[in-house]
Amino acid sequence: MNHPSAQPHFSRRSLIQYGGGFLGTSLLATVLGSNGTNQPATAQSDLTPEQALAQLMAGNQRFVQNKQKNPNQTTIRLPEVVEGQTPFAAVLSCADSRIPIEILFDRGIGDIFVVRDAGNVATESAIASLEFGTLVLGAKVLMVIGHQDCGAVISTMKQAEVPGSIGVILDNIKPAIDNYLGEENDIEAIKQATQANVLYQVDQLNQSPIIAQLQAENKLKIVGAYASLDTGEIRLIKT
Ligand SMILES: [Zn+2]
Repeated sequence: MNHPSAQPHFSRRSLIQYGGGFLGTSLLATVLGSNGTNQPATAQSDLTPEQALAQLMAGNQRFVQNKQKNPNQTTIRLPEVVEGQTPFAAVLSCADSRIPIEILFDRGIGDIFVVRDAGNVATESAIASLEFGTLVLGAKVLMVIGHQDCGAVISTMKQAEVPGSIGVILDNIKPAIDNYLGEENDIEAIKQATQANVLYQVDQLNQSPIIAQLQAENKLKIVGAYASLDTGEIRLIKT
């Protein structure tokens, strides 16, 4: 995000109250301060959700084929984004260190609004962040990404006893994978459970009135995807 002083101040409750139908999301974004600056969104605002999704997938294909362009990854990019950000995409992915989002999509600074936690779970704070990334910053596509060999999903399948606050993550995954409990030694079951978790977290995001309204206005597309650790390919499983 930008410097805190440049950001609008709001609570999720007030966002939902406004987003619940009194105001269109364009007006709401204006009330909240657009992208946090006086600068209008530029190239991002011209993209359709489908074009934004195509840009993401094209970048992943460049990575998979080792034909990266490495856009926006040097200090030359910094003056372009210092006054504000207009990411064209938002992502909810697992925090796993083997899923570095900008690298896998061959993107750089200011391109993708990324929220990560173990198991790519749509917690209240994750949903709030993604409402900000889509409504206020204007990301046109929102992708939930699960991945091969996800430890959070496997631990949930095992119904593992976990220390500290880790159980919060498992509690957020369990409703998605009730059909796969105890199947943690079956690689295919792990993959299916991981994909079921992606679909469940997409459903959780769709319960946000803001995210639902942006989709109804054709300003946002939400999709689910699965990342292969073997190849780095990110494949859509829900469009
Ligand atoms: Zn994971």
